[in-house]
Amino acid sequence: MAIQAPRGTRDVLPAESYRWQYLEEKMRKAAALAGYREVRTPVFEHTELFARGVGDTTDIVQKEMYTFNDKGNRSITLKPEGTAGAARCFLESNLYADALPCKMYYLNAPIFRYEAPQSGRLREHHQFGLECFGAQDATVDAELILLAYHLLEELGVKNLSVRINSIGCPNCRPSYHGALKDFLVSRLDGLCEDCKNRYERNPLRVLDCKKPGCKAQVKDAPSMLDYLCEECRDHFAQLKACLQSEGIPFAVDSRIVRGLDYYTKTVFELVTETDGGALTVCGGGRYDHLVAQLGGPDLPAVGFGMGIERVLMLLDSEGIEIPKPDQYEVFVTYMKDNRAEAFALVQALRRQGIRADMDHCSRSLKAQFKYANKTGARFAATIGEEEARTGTVRVKDMGSGEERTVALAEAGDTIRKMRKEAE
Ligand code: ATP
Ligand code: MG
Repeated sequence: MAIQAPRGTRDVLPAESYRWQYLEEKMRKAAALAGYREVRTPVFEHTELFARGVGDTTDIVQKEMYTFNDKGNRSITLKPEGTAGAARCFLESNLYADALPCKMYYLNAPIFRYEAPQSGRLREHHQFGLECFGAQDATVDAELILLAYHLLEELGVKNLSVRINSIGCPNCRPSYHGALKDFLVSRLDGLCEDCKNRYERNPLRVLDCKKPGCKAQVKDAPSMLDYLCEECRDHFAQLKACLQSEGIPFAVDSRIVRGLDYYTKTVFELVTETDGGALTVCGGGRYDHLVAQLGGPDLPAVGFGMGIERVLMLLDSEGIEIPKPDQYEVFVTYMKDNRAEAFALVQALRRQGIRADMDHCSRSLKAQFKYANKTGARFAATIGEEEARTGTVRVKDMGSGEERTVALAEAGDTIRKMRKEAE
């Protein structure tokens, strides 16, 4: 049998890459409008970065990483998320010595997680992510949420809900951990094996478990929001005020804790309801101590990651179409003897910035027209016997059927003119 792509991966086919490019353009524009500049970091990092950064009690680090020893016997891991690499880069290049905040984004970063493949869950997916280092104000948390929301709104997404929560800081979280453990201790039997472990090592993670049994057990769990210290409470109040003043709908959801250990204060998700259930398209939050944890200065930071494949799924499920560009504008059709003239015409049109092509498969004239139609070419430019003899070309608007015979050198201008007149 022919070799297949590994499970949980997906090709982006030539006929569908325009959808990715369309998103890319919108994403770059949205990021640039808010002063975020692109960063590109390697696809793999030292495993230790994720163990230390993401947290070794998280699902990602415990179960989902693609880790291997390279030929130099170093433990290497394919990026399972974008933030740790961005923070490592920020630190390694001393960007904290420049004017802060430092705003960066990554686009189409491939992310690898060994997950059970199912709808919306791939082993390689891609993210658009923004990170802002060195600013503690809730205005940044708010701008990120608004940016993600407006981006999806601009794409035409309707069913979007913003869920926010605060999971406190190292000052106030321990007392909540205590309260949560007190609550969970009598419910341990109802939790899955993973959650029994989480109860010991990182009880907050239990709230993040997707198993229905565990979800039911934590339904009435105490809320972190009741345990926030004054600083975290103020920060959360500011965030809510910013979102309210901009008029976007949001809900406070104390069940959101996010799957990574580095979060502090704000966490948020953008969720949408699809036929297959709730789908998280974007997740993020504040990670005020990650940079310090990685050996740098204690600098606040906040960011989000948006799954590109999930955005595309969402557009599909809401029936939102992305304008599909035609492969060619002009298809040059020709009689066999006039191949040289056809070739020269294609090159000339391309030099003028007109997307053009010709038959490369020795098809009959009739089959060439059929092919031209199939590619969606707007114009056919034909060089037959008569045209070759007189140094002309017959330009046909495939939509209206209108034809004009003009000198070869005028083909480009004629096409532009006909295009304009039809507008
Ligand atoms: P989930 O709760 O769905 O497992 P997560 O909390 O693991 O998501 P993040 O680490 O926050 O996800 O990643 C940010 C975004 O990347 C998610 O909101 C989602 O859109 C996308 N994403 C995460 N994991 C996958 C995956 N396995 N396949 C496709 N997209 C994914
Ligand atoms: Mg996950």
